Amino acid sequence: MPKYILTIGLEVHAQLTTRSKMFCACPVEYGAEPNTHTCPTCLGLPGALPVLNKAAIEKTLLTGLMLGCSTPPVVKWDRKNYFYPDMPKNYQISQFDLPLCLGGGVPLYDFAYPKDAQKSIANPGKVVKLTRIHLEEDVAKSTHHDRFTTIDFNRAGTPLMEIVSDPDIDSAEEAVAYLGSLRQILLYGGVSDADMEKGQMRCDVNISVRPEGTTELGAKIELKNINSMSAIRRAIKFETERQIDALERGEKLIQSTRRWDDDRGETTLMRTKEDAHDYRYFPDPDLLPLHTDKLLASVKPHVPELPHEKRARFEQQYSVSAYDASVLSSTLGLSAYYEEAVSARPDVSPKKVANWLLNDYLGTLNSKVSYVIPSVATEPQTINYAIPAGFGSSTSVQAPSTQFPISGQAFADFVYQVESGKISAAQGKEVLPVMLDTGKPAAEIIKAKGFEQVSDTGALEAIVEQILAANPDKVAEVKGGNEKAMNWFTGQAMKASQGKANPKMVTEIVRKKVLG
Ligand SMILES: [Zn+2]
Repeated sequence: MPKYILTIGLEVHAQLTTRSKMFCACPVEYGAEPNTHTCPTCLGLPGALPVLNKAAIEKTLLTGLMLGCSTPPVVKWDRKNYFYPDMPKNYQISQFDLPLCLGGGVPLYDFAYPKDAQKSIANPGKVVKLTRIHLEEDVAKSTHHDRFTTIDFNRAGTPLMEIVSDPDIDSAEEAVAYLGSLRQILLYGGVSDADMEKGQMRCDVNISVRPEGTTELGAKIELKNINSMSAIRRAIKFETERQIDALERGEKLIQSTRRWDDDRGETTLMRTKEDAHDYRYFPDPDLLPLHTDKLLASVKPHVPELPHEKRARFEQQYSVSAYDASVLSSTLGLSAYYEEAVSARPDVSPKKVANWLLNDYLGTLNSKVSYVIPSVATEPQTINYAIPAGFGSSTSVQAPSTQFPISGQAFADFVYQVESGKISAAQGKEVLPVMLDTGKPAAEIIKAKGFEQVSDTGALEAIVEQILAANPDKVAEVKGGNEKAMNWFTGQAMKASQGKANPKMVTEIVRKKVLG
């Protein structure tokens, strides 16, 4: 049986976070009462004229800059002609031959791969090449009921960015990593909320297989209606097997479009190339071509530190592991909170702050269910940060730092209490959940729990002196260089103070008193 090579290209539609629509002033609002945000332009009424949304163009250019695309000096808008009830003016305004962005690429982040695939990444550090990014208007949203269809024009005319990759993706796992990485970059740039569940990011998959040793790509088959990260992986797996089975039977595959049925876990034929649309693109006479140089220059200063840059900086600046740096930079909210805490207490090791934040802090919040771990990918699902988990298994909610119940300063103060030896790590694990629950400062909780260590030199000296006097034989052992005897004294002092003595200080006092 010959081996087969899989080739995948993705077309991702991302809704932009603008306040108004692409060609009119109607507000963009997810979940509003149907057909309340409409006007003659976005309803496609005769004579209504489009006006360009500058913010949408800027956000698309910013995306291009983040992904290393180039921008033609002049871009234009074209009419894509077709008749469908969700587009009553019978054409969609899109971009054909002069889009806002060309080329570029999406770096695949290790942590965006499905969790089970992270240990065996075939092409580490791969950058998936992009063909283009263009800007168009979204269509209205149809909802099909048993015997009729309803339509909501709130979505009609909202800015939609289409990111088209080259056929440069080699596996279902890479497709997941591509979407996760892209989503993280879009969130970093603040250009889209990119929530697949809400339809803010939608994806069509072009997939073909060919026998190993052949160079010509197999028939391109497009999969529609994929609306979650896990569905993408399953859809690609199913379709790959279906196509290989067909080739094995000697069938010839033809270019076609298929619909993914998530419940049944299979694809079904929608249409073949013969009945594909001819969109008869032509330049929209209502919109002038656009010179891009000035806009591009005004957007350039807004290119943010990208996820991989932030990760590298965290590793270097804060000496955290590559894994911890990835989790800390998984969302802007979490990374900002971490840096807020670190800068609040320069006397506490940033690595310790990261340990407490990733293990105990987020673990505690997760166990309360009220908080969903922010990350770059897929279905809302609570994951436990104590167990290494990748983005592929986590959620889609961007966490603003307001979701953290205590300030970065208060959290850093807590870490200081533990790391300076004021309380033990075990006591810290008791204090932190109370802090997160009540919002009270660490010092107050430590006092209330009676955890305060005795660090008063005079008091400790008195305790040690008493024990030394009662155990002359052990004193002799310490003098003879027996380290175990030294530890025995520390243990006795801890016992005498009911565990509240600062062990470091006790050892120092014993050493000073016995050895001089
Ligand atoms: Zn409108």
